[in-house]
This record gives sequence, C-alpha cells and structure tokens, in this order.
Amino acid sequence: MKTSPSSSHHVSRRRFLGQIAAAGAVAMIPRWGRADESPAPSRKLGIALVGLGNYSEYHLAPALRLTKYCRLAGAVTGSRAKGEQWARDYGFPERNVFGYDTMAEMAGNPDIDMVYVVTPNGLHAGHCIAAAKAGKHVICEKPMANTVAECDAMIAACRAAGVRLTVGYRLHYEPHHIEFERLAREKIFGPFTRMTGDNGFRMGVRPGAALPWRLNKRLAGGGPLMDMGVYVIQAACMAKVEASPAAITAVFDPVTRPEIFSQVEESVRWTMEFADGSEARCHASYAEGFSRFRAEGPGGWAQLGPPAFSYDDPVLTTSQGRVHLPRINHQAAQMDGMALELLEGRPSIAPGEMGRRDIAIVEAIYASAGGGGSRIPVQGSA
Ligand code: NAD
Repeated sequence: MKTSPSSSHHVSRRRFLGQIAAAGAVAMIPRWGRADESPAPSRKLGIALVGLGNYSEYHLAPALRLTKYCRLAGAVTGSRAKGEQWARDYGFPERNVFGYDTMAEMAGNPDIDMVYVVTPNGLHAGHCIAAAKAGKHVICEKPMANTVAECDAMIAACRAAGVRLTVGYRLHYEPHHIEFERLAREKIFGPFTRMTGDNGFRMGVRPGAALPWRLNKRLAGGGPLMDMGVYVIQAACMAKVEASPAAITAVFDPVTRPEIFSQVEESVRWTMEFADGSEARCHASYAEGFSRFRAEGPGGWAQLGPPAFSYDDPVLTTSQGRVHLPRINHQAAQMDGMALELLEGRPSIAPGEMGRRDIAIVEAIYASAGGGGSRIPVQGSA
C-alpha cells in the first residue's frame, strides 16, 4: 500500500514545485521532519481546515504554527464569525473563510493548496469531494469514511480532478511507529505471526446532554471501531508490512450502558487472519481505557505502548529492550511530511487507498459481529 501514487502525481509536483521555486532544492528529511535543517521554503503550502472542532483547534492549528512546509491559510466552518476570528488569530485573509456550502468558491483562491477535512466521519466523503472539485489536494481525517462505497467515490473524485488524496494517519510519521514498521519490514524478529492490540477509552455523556456525534450512527459510521479500532487495524497491517487480512471474525461485547449505546457498539473484538496464517486479535472499546499493540515473531517481539496511539509519547519496547526515540509533535510531522511528499513528487505513505483498505476491514468486522461471528472474507484482500 505504500506505492500508490495518485494519477495526479506529476501534475501536483509540477504545480507545487513551480509555486515554491524560489526555495531551491527541497532536502530529503527524516519522516518525522522537525530535525530538518534545510532552508525554509519561501512559500509554504496553504492548508484550509474544514471543521473547526476539537482536533482542528487544539492539535492541527497549533501544529501549523510549527510546520516548515505548510501553514494555515483558510478555514471552512458553519460559523462565519468563528472563521473570521481564526483569520485574525492565524493571520490569513477573511476572504479565505468559506462555508460548507461554498467550498466550490475555493477554486479561485490561490492561497489554498490543500484542504484538510476534520468533520464527523459521515461528512468526510461530501467534504473531500467538494474540495477535489475545487481543485485542491485533500487530507482526510481518519476513519476515511463510513463505507467502502464512499471511499471509492472520494478516490474517483480526486483522480478525476487530478489532486492527491491522503488520510490523516499521523502515526506513519511518528518515530516509534516508523521503527516498529522497520522491525516488521526487515523481519528483525522474523515475520510477525501473533499480534494483539487494544485501544479504547471510557466514553461519558453528561445526564441530559445531547448524544455526541461519535455515538450517532449516521455521523460516526459506528462506535469505537471507527474511532479507536482503526488505529489497531493500522498497527496490525503495519506489522504485516501493509498486507490486508484475508478474513475477519468478530463479536460485539455485551452493552453495559444501553442508554447511550443505542445506535453504535460499546465494544467490539475481532481477529484478523492473514494469508500466511498469522493472526491479530484486536479490541476497541468505549467502555475501558487501553492503548497497546504487541507483535511476536519466531525471533522475538515488539510492543507499542502503553500508550501506543496517543498524541505525545508512544512507548516502544522489544525483546531486546526499550527503544528510545525523539518525542515530536505528531500533527506537525504528519502535515510537513505530506507537504514534502507533494513537493518532492513522492507517493504518499498514507494514501486514500490505505484508508479504503481499512474501511473494507471495518465493513468485514461489522458483517461478522452482526452475523453471529461468522468468518467474513475482506473485500479486495490479496
Ligand atoms: P469535533 O466534534 O470536536 O469537531 C467536528 C467539527 O465538525 C466541528 O467544528 C463541527 O461544528 C463540525 N460539523 C460540521 N457539520 C457537523 C454536523 N452535522 N454535526 C456535528 N459536527 C459538525 O470532532 P473532532 O474530535 O475534531 O473530530 C473530527 C474528525 O477528526 C473525526 O473524523 C475524528 O475521527 C478525527 N480525529 C482524528 C484524530 C487523530 O488523532 N488523527 C484525533 C481526533 C479526531
């Protein structure tokens, strides 16, 4: 999955290299980027955030103050006043504030190169397709969409518009996960054959408060599987060098709080069965907190976490000891990494096709758990 440049690859490269020509050559940098000492480009790629909620406000926008190759250049929001406040705070013109229904107007705006979709999962497809139609490259937050059919429509729209589609899989740009991936790819402990992973937190809703969108099936697509489980799916596929599992078996745990889990699962367990006979046993939960992933091979083991998937400080330990690597800002590394992939004309390491693969796995998990735990082949697996 790490070799799927979009059809627009060369178009993008020409366009962006033209825009930052004055910067001279862009040096190759480590994937976590901040160690880069090459000169700053004279023009950073402009990113517009779509949806100014928690992740945009507390993670992406602050990270865009740290990035070297991209900057916050615009916003798409349901509140014009909020967008204008962001324009003042982040120093972009008010003309770069758009509504969800006026995204087409971005087409004529040269400040915005990439659109980063950070709205509820069920809205990703519509917002990505609108951005592509406006001629902008797209980063879409995880999970890519609610269904494989939506992923296909997003990929097709980006191809038709000649723009790149990537998924906000920040951990592909994080040093501990990059090292974990190297251990898998170079088979340092032999191929990983037995894997276990859990990710979750206890979801609470204040009495009388409206149901958050993460518990609304239409907006979230599902429960903790869509939110936390996608990280475990990602780690399992990374441990298998980006292979897709051949089949899935899954069960829902009993619901302990039916008053808030009326539309989506509270907790789900699944097994990913790979073509070489290896297995990943996985768990995603809104009932309990976990963050860990362990992979074992014939010559040793590697474990991410706890915590494995949180923002600041993943832990990586192997059968040879603790691995010490730099702590970085994940979101800055991811956005700089994605900007550089474009500038250097390299394929993305987190393309839309990878997001689609993960949603095909999600669909198989729901089909199995909803069907009494039957074994479900994964659509499109090798
Ligand atoms: P949030 O609820 O804080 O923000 C959602 C934004 O979407 C808000 O600005 C809201 O106004 C807007 N919105 C537009 N239409 C809406 C509608 N019909 N209903 C509800 N909100 C609507 O959510 P968030 O935590 O910022 O998550 C947004 C996306 O980012 C999700 O896809 C989530 O999975 C993803 N996310 C990723 C990470 C990560 O580490 N990669 C972390 C957190 C969130």
